[in-house]
Amino acid sequence: MDKFFSDAMEIRDLAKKHNKMFEESIPLIASENVMSPLAMEMLLTDFGHRYAEGLPHQRYYQGNFFVDQLEDKVIELGKKLYNAPQFDPRPVSGTNANMGVIFGLTKPMERICAPDLSGGGHISAAKFGALGFRGLDIVNYPYDEETMTIDVDGARKTILETRPNLCLFGQSVFLFPAPLKELRDTFQEVGCKVWYDGAHVAGLIAGKKFQDPLREGADVITGSTHKTLPGPQHGMVIGNTDEKTWKKVQKGVFPGVLSNHHLNTMAALGITLAEMLDYGEAYAQKIIDNARTLAEELYALGMDVLAEKRGFTSSHTLVADVRKFGGGKEVAEKLERCNIILNKNLIPVDKNRNSQDPSGIRIGTQEITRIGFEKNDVKALAEIMMKILKNNISEEKAKEEVMNLKSEFKQVKFCYGTTNPYEYIELFK
Ligand SMILES: *Cc1c(COP(=O)(O)O)cnc(C)c1O
Repeated sequence: MDKFFSDAMEIRDLAKKHNKMFEESIPLIASENVMSPLAMEMLLTDFGHRYAEGLPHQRYYQGNFFVDQLEDKVIELGKKLYNAPQFDPRPVSGTNANMGVIFGLTKPMERICAPDLSGGGHISAAKFGALGFRGLDIVNYPYDEETMTIDVDGARKTILETRPNLCLFGQSVFLFPAPLKELRDTFQEVGCKVWYDGAHVAGLIAGKKFQDPLREGADVITGSTHKTLPGPQHGMVIGNTDEKTWKKVQKGVFPGVLSNHHLNTMAALGITLAEMLDYGEAYAQKIIDNARTLAEELYALGMDVLAEKRGFTSSHTLVADVRKFGGGKEVAEKLERCNIILNKNLIPVDKNRNSQDPSGIRIGTQEITRIGFEKNDVKALAEIMMKILKNNISEEKAKEEVMNLKSEFKQVKFCYGTTNPYEYIELFK
């Protein structure tokens, strides 16, 4: 009996250790966040045991009486938050949302313009990612390394010459707004649809602090709901387009790329949307302020933070060239040993370089802001980081300092109520 109980306990033990590790670390991965207590509560509900295929009130299964009301409410909140006529909360991740749009709005062999990987593009937009697997003919926009954005004149030329069916914008290294306004006439001239991948910046857009893609010419926005939008790991599509196009997108989502849509995470998303309506503007502003402060401090202390001429960043993200400290891999691993968690990242000088050994690192301030970091705390963090990289402190001592700094920040902010999101909650006794 219970031959594998010890294996189960081993898994639980890993989870406990993992929680503790993050409780004691400073989290700087630009694509992660922590949830509010109400949102976390939703993950444990019976919604997570059920199926609800299709759209509200047109289901295929019984038992969806409250699910329909839940989904209506999530859609209503999503439309309100993004000031959008269309909202679909069913994709189960950002990539899944992207696939829904790809299935709905493209056919194999069609042409699509998209950001380049070395310019921060996401793997789903790569030849070996979802766009490539769909058999699309991908043309990349030229990228301006100095300003870390798409080269507008070059992009205009590319679009006019290649006449794509669809133009994709949005990156995983997303420092400055995409040039939608600037290219609007060009989109109209070639008659293409415009798709904005807002996975990273969905929370900043919700807080009205980055750009307003739907007013600047985007037909649809896809997003992850767990990066700057501090919700569950899930996805969404937001639309401001004609009914026919929207129907195609919704069919792309279901039955195109999913069946059930993970109802407990959808409920958590609904809570997050409500909290962003109440707290989103203050949260987004603080994220960006903290990113600028961190960039300025690191730069002043000798780190080659990119895009200095544009003030480093207008988002939650900053990137740095860390070749003089041994490169992205070495720096990320060294900082990890001192409980600072971030990732190595390709930067523009890395053209064609192996992404396991890039020259840069990427840093995001959305999670530290969520748990209460203010300007002075960010400055303290920059100082510790630079002491570590310049070998002015032992790794042991640095880890102690990092844990000490983190110990004051264990309560999630910008939401209803508060909790320690790193705390391990036991159900099994
Ligand atoms: C993170 C990211 C995604 C994918 O999101 P998942 O939720 O991890 O599937 C898509 N596009 C961009 C630009 C991203 O950065």
